[in-house]
Amino acid sequence: MKVLVINAGSSSLKYQLLDTNTREVLAKGLCERIGIDGKFTYKAPGKATVDAADVTMPTHAEAIQAVLAALVNPQNGVISSMSEIEAVGHRVVHGGETFACSVKIDEKVMAALEENIPLAPLHNPANITGIKACTAVMGPGVPQVGVFDTAFHQTMPPVAYTYALPYEYYEKDKVRRYGFHGTSHRYVTQRAADMLGKPIESLKLISCHLGNGSSIAAVSGGRSVDTSMGFTPLAGLPMGTRSGDIDAGVMEYLMNKYGMDIKEMLNVLNKKSGVQGVSGVSSDFRDLCAAAEQGNQRAALALDMFSYGVKKYIGAYAAAMGGVDAIIFTAGVGENDAQQRMAIASGLEFMGVKMDPDANNVRGKEAIISAIDSKVKVLLIPTNEELMIALDTAELA
Ligand code: ADP
Repeated sequence: MKVLVINAGSSSLKYQLLDTNTREVLAKGLCERIGIDGKFTYKAPGKATVDAADVTMPTHAEAIQAVLAALVNPQNGVISSMSEIEAVGHRVVHGGETFACSVKIDEKVMAALEENIPLAPLHNPANITGIKACTAVMGPGVPQVGVFDTAFHQTMPPVAYTYALPYEYYEKDKVRRYGFHGTSHRYVTQRAADMLGKPIESLKLISCHLGNGSSIAAVSGGRSVDTSMGFTPLAGLPMGTRSGDIDAGVMEYLMNKYGMDIKEMLNVLNKKSGVQGVSGVSSDFRDLCAAAEQGNQRAALALDMFSYGVKKYIGAYAAAMGGVDAIIFTAGVGENDAQQRMAIASGLEFMGVKMDPDANNVRGKEAIISAIDSKVKVLLIPTNEELMIALDTAELA
């Protein structure tokens, strides 16, 4: 089945057209600066690439129209008519407690998505806009499916998701740990079971999604039982520009001292912290490695803080699950940064983790990077959230 996968942001829209039978990406690209000055890119294997500025895209509907026009373009398109697209899959950030798996979108689902807006005020409205734009342009006859970042983590037990706050904030306001990157954690843990040749029901896995945003999930028997992100993606590990966990008391202290309001404080925590904030160099691990190699102490500290943070979660989640069969590395840093993977795994020999430095010298492809006699396997698995969304969509459409 040919499925169009859409990831709509407030002024951007990423798309991929996939064939779920062959698992092949037929075309992909990005609409940016929607409502501003419209940038459009399109790539299809073996065809001329489009990289256009000043494309008229006042709303997401025109962006979808531009995508469809490119897909059916007689020169470099990949389908002969729009009717070949049998379904559309949307990445939706927050499903709250309403959605524990992907769903076919209907009026009831749209109403539930609207209800969840307060939980993700920046992301969910953009996702809803993307769905409405597809309905408007493609017509109500094309089935659409919502795939939620939070859904995979809905299996967490109360002991993992409840915050130690007055309980009414959970009961009345749904304040709890939700977790994110669920589609990625689900994909790589399924692949890990395939690579290990064991049923996922029998495995205790720790999935490390380390990118610009990073999260770790403890996955026992194929079910997420704990994860490092929380009510929002600000929690857990230090990230590119996000602080991860800090003492909430720091906020009052800094807000009073520098006369910041809560919006300014959150801007610091989301955009100016993490490895960027500590190093003062960059949020990109490539820049940090280069700076550390040239003797920049704060870049080295930021890198060490990151690997130390991941290591602590691995220890915690092995304890939470009563053991671990395999540790998975994925996303930009996890897939590409052999040094970080080594730093994270070193010192874990006591719990049966033994890396193979040669096998670890690999980038962006599936590999077992632990030594043959390592009790705990260490796997590199490139994530593929779009494929997971397309497969869910094909199943539900
Ligand atoms: P996002 O969370 O935006 O989806 P990605 O998973 O694409 O992020 O990860 C992007 C990050 O991956 C970059 O900011 C960079 O830190 C890191 N990265 C990408 N390539 C490399 C590399 N070759 N070596 C080290 N880090 C890399």
